[in-house]
Amino acid sequence: DTRLARIASAIRVIPDFPKPGILFQDITTLLLDTKAFKDTVDLFVERYRDQNINVVAGVEARGFIFGPPIALAIGAKFVPMRKPNKLPGEVISEEYSLEYGTDKMEMHVGAVQPGERALIIDDLIATGGTLGAAIKLLERVGVHVVECACVIELPELKDLNNYIPMTITWCIEKL
Ligand code: IMP
Repeated sequence: DTRLARIASAIRVIPDFPKPGILFQDITTLLLDTKAFKDTVDLFVERYRDQNINVVAGVEARGFIFGPPIALAIGAKFVPMRKPNKLPGEVISEEYSLEYGTDKMEMHVGAVQPGERALIIDDLIATGGTLGAAIKLLERVGVHVVECACVIELPELKDLNNYIPMTITWCIEKL
């Protein structure tokens, strides 16, 4: 697919952000390239439009950028999966581990219904801890997670201890 090279080259890599030794994959430059941004959304839409998906769940913060255009194009609702204490209504939450310490992800009660079919969107998967928490939240309320999709996968960072069935992740670019 000729679109992949343009998408890959539109992603900027910034060394030592947010900490020394980390090579940060910056998708904000992809958003500046109107063709590469559209191609990215189109690739997701082509994969998911015929899968009876009712819910696109976007992981804060960059899942909020790619999720809504995908949701609109495939005729699904958009549900934000947020950092703690951001959502105003009643929430269910799921704790997950980070390199140092833990974090929490929250979703509004009533945003999804048992039996619905969800696609989870984020910009990047590293260890899989973040997407694992999103899967657990949705499965706890009886939603079927069809797949998790990201723009970028850092395959060497996968931690198989995380609750993340790798058969259900799909990424545009594997680094
Ligand atoms: P994981 O939980 O270890 O898979 O890390 C994935 C989460 O960290 C995602 O929400 C990403 O947005 C974020 N993340 C980690 N590394 C990068 C990066 O290089 N660029 C952008 N986001 C990153």
